[in-house]
Amino acid sequence: MVATLPDLEIGHALLSPTAPPIDRNAAERAVGQLLAALGIDTDTEIGLNTPRRVADAYAQMLSQKPWEFTRFPNVDEQHDLVVTGGIEFTSVCGHHLLPFSGTAAVGYRPAAFIPGLSKVARSVRMFAARLQTQEGLGQQVVRFVQQQLECADVGVLLRAEHTCMTCRGVRAQGSLTITVATTGALRTDPTARAEFLQLASMAGRAA
Ligand code: ZN
Repeated sequence: MVATLPDLEIGHALLSPTAPPIDRNAAERAVGQLLAALGIDTDTEIGLNTPRRVADAYAQMLSQKPWEFTRFPNVDEQHDLVVTGGIEFTSVCGHHLLPFSGTAAVGYRPAAFIPGLSKVARSVRMFAARLQTQEGLGQQVVRFVQQQLECADVGVLLRAEHTCMTCRGVRAQGSLTITVATTGALRTDPTARAEFLQLASMAGRAA
């Protein structure tokens, strides 16, 4: 089943974040209009070729090949916390169309299924390939992993630098934004939450 994002009506089959598809030619024309509005001479190398490069760059950042979230029966009864960290991602701030990038740590307590580990990183990358806020990215990954694994306890810790903060506005160079998104016991049980935050922090430092 092909995904119908963003409503998360997703089966355990093919997933694709690019619905509807990107109209690359329309994007290129629009960037050309933006450059003209900014006073860029359309006869220069920048005026001629930058619209294509920018359209390609956004198409690359906002699309991903279809993939499959594979999962396996939890035959060894791993019900303790599993954390995968150091997952590098780049997304695009939906407020300014500027990139933000950082690392993610994803934790979950498996119920009946365990994931193929690379699928956890894929989940982060899939939701990063959209216009996002950091808060939205974390929450969407939590809900998605929870749904795919059919488990209650999922957490995502994101660390990211936002170029819309470092290159414009407050120009807060080197600032880092950390967000935590959790469900189930990782939100409500202080001991489980502390364990997740500790392991998520360790996993991030190892990256
Ligand atoms: Zn922004």
